[in-house]
Amino acid sequence: MAYYVNRNISMTWWERSYIPEILKGLWLTSRRFFRNLFGFLPFFLGTKKDRRIFTVYYPEEQVQYPIAYRGRPVLAQNEDGQPACVACGLCEIACPAYCIHIEPGENSGKQNQYERWPDVFNIDYAVCIFCGNCEEACPEEAIFMSDDCEISMLDRKKMLYTKEQLLVPVADLQKRIEFTRNMYAKWNY
Ligand code: SF4
Ligand code: SF4
Repeated sequence: MAYYVNRNISMTWWERSYIPEILKGLWLTSRRFFRNLFGFLPFFLGTKKDRRIFTVYYPEEQVQYPIAYRGRPVLAQNEDGQPACVACGLCEIACPAYCIHIEPGENSGKQNQYERWPDVFNIDYAVCIFCGNCEEACPEEAIFMSDDCEISMLDRKKMLYTKEQLLVPVADLQKRIEFTRNMYAKWNY
């Protein structure tokens, strides 16, 4: 559904006088500031169960990311342990950061039941911009944006993940799979 911004909003005299609105904004910001600054006290004194502050004590506490969140891209792994990827290369082409590298496997007719699969599938997270283009381009539901963003490292070379490191069981990706089906079904390609 299209959303239109109403640009014809008329302000009241009070709003046009400017200063009261500034003071209102300052009051709101200050209230949040002091609430966050001292909001932990009742929690530590044991009088309240809820800390009433919005900061999270990471890494002891973790944030539950919304399903639309784009963390590191991962490869879906079928129940037989094989990647769902057919090495078509569409994600590699769609990637604006050129951080995906795929080498298709050759099927001599006896390796496995799959006609096509990636022998090599690397993603360099040091270069990835988490745009989600790879997920959108994939015709096989084989690559998905996960909610994992804890990939910082001291050595950039270790941020190059291989196929084995990228695989995540398809059962663990069900929510994201449903989300992408709903999301991409809306676009008129
Ligand atoms: S999320 Fe974007 S930058 Fe990262 S691998 Fe996918 S297409 Fe490339
Ligand atoms: S992940 Fe998807 S788009 Fe990328 S090569 Fe595999 S099947 Fe093709």
